[in-house]
Amino acid sequence: KLGNETIKQELGRASWKLLHTMLARFPENPSVDEREALKSYLYLFGRLYPCGECATHFRLLLQKYPPQTSSRDAASQWGCVVHNAVNERLRKPIFDCGTIADKYHCGCAEEDEKKRK
Ligand code: FAD
Repeated sequence: KLGNETIKQELGRASWKLLHTMLARFPENPSVDEREALKSYLYLFGRLYPCGECATHFRLLLQKYPPQTSSRDAASQWGCVVHNAVNERLRKPIFDCGTIADKYHCGCAEEDEKKRK
């Protein structure tokens, strides 16, 4: 049982990292197609996330907080709010969403390098 909790937490940390990094790299001015892709991704994530209990709660969060895809900033803030809703339920500390733009880098682009200098 304890082992399962550890694995679930590792999966959670890895998933949040991917999600927030993806949202931090979402276009600042997305096309209709890019907006549609993000929305689909998030709903499919809610269907396929391999921790069933987590996925069920995430789908309820998608209903309560429909994905915001109009810009990088809107999407990143949405991700932060949804993660905080999970934090609240799990009685974890609430993250300050004002600082999120500085936190997530992919290490894959010149833009990232510039930001870090
Ligand atoms: P995590 O919550 O994994 O966060 C990792 C790091 O992200 C933090 O250390 C912090 O630096 C940063 N962070 C924290 N909050 C935010 C934020 N709001 N915005 C941006 N960055 C932030 N576990 C369960 O036991 N039950 C569940 O129902 C459940 N549902 C989940 C649903 C989803 C969609 C996901 C991805 C995970 C879920 N988890 C669930 C796992 C859980 O959220 C944690 O990932 C896990 O418990 C490990 O927690 P942690 O304390 O290491 O930090």
